[in-house]
Amino acid sequence: TWWSFTDKATYDWSSEEEEPDGRARPIQVLVVKDDHTFELDEAALSRILLAEEVHNREVVAISVAGAFRKGKSFLMDFMLRYMYSQASEEWLGEAEEPLTGFSWRGGSERETTGIQIWSEVFLVDKPDGRKVAVLLMDTQGTFDSQSTLRDSATVFALSTMISSMQLFTEYGRLAMEETFLKPFQSMIFLVRDWSFPYEFGYGQEGGMKFLEKRLKISENQHEELQNVRKHIHSCFTNISCFLMPHPGLKVATNPNFDGRLKEIDREFINNLQILVPWLLSPKNLDVKEINGSNITCRGLLEYFKAYIKIYQG
Ligand code: GDP
Ligand code: MG
Repeated sequence: TWWSFTDKATYDWSSEEEEPDGRARPIQVLVVKDDHTFELDEAALSRILLAEEVHNREVVAISVAGAFRKGKSFLMDFMLRYMYSQASEEWLGEAEEPLTGFSWRGGSERETTGIQIWSEVFLVDKPDGRKVAVLLMDTQGTFDSQSTLRDSATVFALSTMISSMQLFTEYGRLAMEETFLKPFQSMIFLVRDWSFPYEFGYGQEGGMKFLEKRLKISENQHEELQNVRKHIHSCFTNISCFLMPHPGLKVATNPNFDGRLKEIDREFINNLQILVPWLLSPKNLDVKEINGSNITCRGLLEYFKAYIKIYQG
């Protein structure tokens, strides 16, 4: 695998990061191309991380990772609502308001393995008086062949290394055999469409119990699976799991669904109201640490570049 860097210094800046009306949007900063080479858009990443207001701030990097069509954009749009409402009680929005944000193009016409970053970095005041910069990342991959699996593993590993918290989305099960792991701060497995609430209840508590059961190492397991489980424990400071109910048939199957709350199952919304503040409330935002030091946005850019070099070999 090798990486190339694009120099887009000659680009028109304003049109790169913003809609003509000035709205923020997702920016593809890392792409895996058809020939399995990686391309980091260093110019775009620099514009986001070196912006005047944020470059010296300590950074909280939150990544939502998973395969395509796992509802990452849908979830991240709600995370954006929470960030834009600055944690107000009313963050969830109006019943008939369409969702916008990561799904801004209405679906997934382009399915690119790589990392997208929300062009606006949020400044948040933590209860201890620190002002931190919050970066939201969408990390996606494909698992349809050996080569795409390898590409995706590299992308997930990278986003893992640069995140302070990563959510891994999966439907109804936990395919831990597929995840590729590197040391980092917090990993949250988000299990969607959970359909056994009588066995393990929705939310974090049921999730932890479910995770414990899944991570238990037993002798009759295949050796490779045993190793994955041991590895998970040795790599993460915090591991948790959240069981999310099914959002309802309109969300899952209606091609014209635009994200309005009115058409989402109540149970899902109730759990969203627990999940999102649990992830993003100011007191829960953890600054990215590397070797025990807090990282700023500028520092994160340097690490991003350095980590990519590691994979160049
Ligand atoms: P992404 O490719 O991971 O970003 O997935 P999207 O957010 O674009 O969602 C893919 C499809 O799944 C859309 O039709 C969503 O409405 C739907 N969806 C979103 N969340 C869920 C969920 O929790 N369960 C189910 N079954 N579908 C969902
Ligand atoms: Mg998406």
